[in-house]
Amino acid sequence: MDRRDALAKMFSAKGVRVNTNRGEAYYDRLKKMMQKRLRELRESPAATKVDIQKVLDAEGLSRRDFMKWASAITAMLMLPASFTPLVAEAAELMNRVPVIWIELQDCAGNSEAILRSDSPTIDELILETIDLEFNETLMAAAGHQAEAHLEETMKTFKGKYLCVVEGSVPIGAGKEWCTIGAKAETFEEHLLKVAGDAAAVVAVGTCATFGGVPAAAPNPTGAVGVQDIVKGKPIINIPACPANPANITGTILHFVLTGQIPELDHLNRPKFAFGYRIHDNCERRAHFDAGEFVEEWGDEGAQNNWCLYKMGCKGPMTFNNCSIVRYNSGTNWPIGAGHGCIGCSEPQFWDKYAYERPMADANIKAPTGGVEKSVDEFGLGLLTAAGVGIAIHAAISATAGKKEEEK
Ligand code: SF4
Repeated sequence: MDRRDALAKMFSAKGVRVNTNRGEAYYDRLKKMMQKRLRELRESPAATKVDIQKVLDAEGLSRRDFMKWASAITAMLMLPASFTPLVAEAAELMNRVPVIWIELQDCAGNSEAILRSDSPTIDELILETIDLEFNETLMAAAGHQAEAHLEETMKTFKGKYLCVVEGSVPIGAGKEWCTIGAKAETFEEHLLKVAGDAAAVVAVGTCATFGGVPAAAPNPTGAVGVQDIVKGKPIINIPACPANPANITGTILHFVLTGQIPELDHLNRPKFAFGYRIHDNCERRAHFDAGEFVEEWGDEGAQNNWCLYKMGCKGPMTFNNCSIVRYNSGTNWPIGAGHGCIGCSEPQFWDKYAYERPMADANIKAPTGGVEKSVDEFGLGLLTAAGVGIAIHAAISATAGKKEEEK
């Protein structure tokens, strides 16, 4: 298979297709299923007394703000606008689904990304209302008391709770790089115990999904992701460093709405968040198409927000929605702030992508004509011939266009 075929295969595989219009019959069935699920949840007791309306009131946010958010998250979940009231209702019922959040080999950056916001978005506020039964970073209990609470929660909500995991699993050298509790459970044992009785496992952040920074060469602790350890259980990967709170909320909301995990790509990432390349929704894309690149930090291109491809931006090979959702209460995102994407939602990003050089030949050549000045040079020299990407760009842009229409 030549490089062009390999690239075409990569972008036409079933796992990367995003179907945003499945027809009326499908959505009618889905709506009935969601209504039934929400009715059952509403009749079940709330596990926490946290009420979304009170949380919104405390932040000075109106019902109208909440419904605007629900409308946006409905679009993000790739549902028709008529599903907005159901999404809003599901957000109000987030306190019906118990969550056990465990931390393994990590920096707690994903928790920090949610907690350190001084003007939280509604996504972040919604996460405050979930029935968070166990979280080592946030809970007051410690030691035996915390362990007893974990056991009790797992017993009470057996088969019903979501197990959220932050951090990688060190399995090198006897697996004893990290242990937890008085019995010195290894992180692998701890994960298998908690994931074993969960309804589904949500791996949050690139360490939990693909091993992340701890797995970077030479990977001294033998760090791996959750999906390398937990088998026979639905696993949802929400990578990025840190994972975006909007994508965590969207995934939990989807579970509340349907009792099922969202549609996933070939890396177990929800397609609603990771179905598109950063490059296709990037605010600097017009400069890429026009052949206008930052050549060195501080030059004319940098001052005019031109494309960062030649400075090592990996947006062309990274799937994520951060160009749309952004970080820090929607304030900005890395490319908006002037630094290229480092591909943090892709496997092995630290070794493969996190450096300030393009993946392949930086000499952007005009192809056979037209607007495109180059193609993307994908992963590890997979593709180097200029001009090949026009058809691929057209196909991917058409998909991105659908998302725009949907919004
Ligand atoms: S290469 Fe990077 S900066 Fe340039 S358009 Fe693509 S994603 Fe944006």
